[in-house]
Amino acid sequence: MVARTDTTLKKSLTEKLAILADAAKYDASCASSGATRANNAGGLGSTEGMGICHSYTPDGRCVSLLKILLTNHCVYDCRYCVNRSSSDTPRARFTVDEVVTLTMEFYRRNYIEGLFLSSGIIRDSDYTMEQVTSVAKTLRERENFKGYIHLKTIPGASHELVTRAGLYADRLSVNIELPTLGDLERLAPEKKRDEIEGAMQSIKIRRDENKNDLAKGLSSTPAFAPAGQSTQMIIGATGTADREILATTTHLYKTHRLRRVYYSAFSPIPHADSRLPGQSPPLVREHRLYQADWLLRFYGFEATELTSDQSPNLDLDIDPKLAWALRNRGQFPIDVNLASRELLLRVPGIGERGVKRILQTRRYHAIRDEDLAGLGIVVKKARAFITTVDRVCEPLSLDSDSLVRRLRPKQKHSQLSLFDAVEGFA
Ligand code: SF4
Repeated sequence: MVARTDTTLKKSLTEKLAILADAAKYDASCASSGATRANNAGGLGSTEGMGICHSYTPDGRCVSLLKILLTNHCVYDCRYCVNRSSSDTPRARFTVDEVVTLTMEFYRRNYIEGLFLSSGIIRDSDYTMEQVTSVAKTLRERENFKGYIHLKTIPGASHELVTRAGLYADRLSVNIELPTLGDLERLAPEKKRDEIEGAMQSIKIRRDENKNDLAKGLSSTPAFAPAGQSTQMIIGATGTADREILATTTHLYKTHRLRRVYYSAFSPIPHADSRLPGQSPPLVREHRLYQADWLLRFYGFEATELTSDQSPNLDLDIDPKLAWALRNRGQFPIDVNLASRELLLRVPGIGERGVKRILQTRRYHAIRDEDLAGLGIVVKKARAFITTVDRVCEPLSLDSDSLVRRLRPKQKHSQLSLFDAVEGFA
């Protein structure tokens, strides 16, 4: 047997990296975008954009992560997945040490600040979870790695393994995969909703225990997944409407206290099952779901307010807050000098920061029309819905059909990113 040279090893790792970084790009539960960096030093691996994504830490810092799968071999056959067992996609598998080496090499070269690691299911859930956890354990204990680690939790893995993973990872995530139980049974019958939610619940319980221990002053308590847990939901692989998607989202936030639900528009895959649609949903649908999600988490909206039985999908042309306001014109106009924080948050064109500034300013003087722009309010959008001390709403302007026309953006369905969706939403 001929021993492999360093060059062979490097090539082999690079090839694996190409396959396993590409396979990981379908996971949206760490927000991603490509990044290129030259490898002038002839070091191990070349990023060439492969596997580098950006994510946000709980304190708002943007970090670059190496985003890869441990393997894209999988014993499951989820219909929507390019790595399903019946797919003829090229396969690869890293060893635990290879992932550790890549992470440390990329980290030392300043390409990344952390690792996002997921995996196809090898043998069974426990075996896979054990392997994924070993990477994090080795990085923390042997390499003294202090960077960010996001581990994908494998549904069905034992509580003990999930608990161990949380001691090494900053964030854990378990993919809910599809919005409803019916969708899951149809497209991923080997995945069980109770196992997925069981894993989420294990993480929640362990995080609560950890918080209680820290509150009791047990300072030696090791942190458990301090950046919380998140999940990913594929949208547009079935005909499930946004109303049901947002109901599931609400359930996940309330029951398992997730930090984030990520929405990933279904992308067609080669040799797809006939039950799958031939094309992706418009990207703007993903964007509208992120905006609706934001309204649920920070603006006091209930999922049931954002759609109706008659219109179960979000309007693609206008944002969900404006759509809600136009459906509920009877609640407007509101007086910015008197309205509660909760009501102000419901005005199109007024974001969280704008509300804060309104509340601060009106302690000192009544807000006039000319003050609005300086308070960070999108005046063109908000004008029809508010009154100030020197301007009442134009008579009947809220009822006019031209209001809808005026407020609809001229450019429809432009390319949008997750970051557009979550920043400065008003
Ligand atoms: S378990 Fe994950 S990797 Fe395996 S087929 Fe299903 S979605 Fe793909």
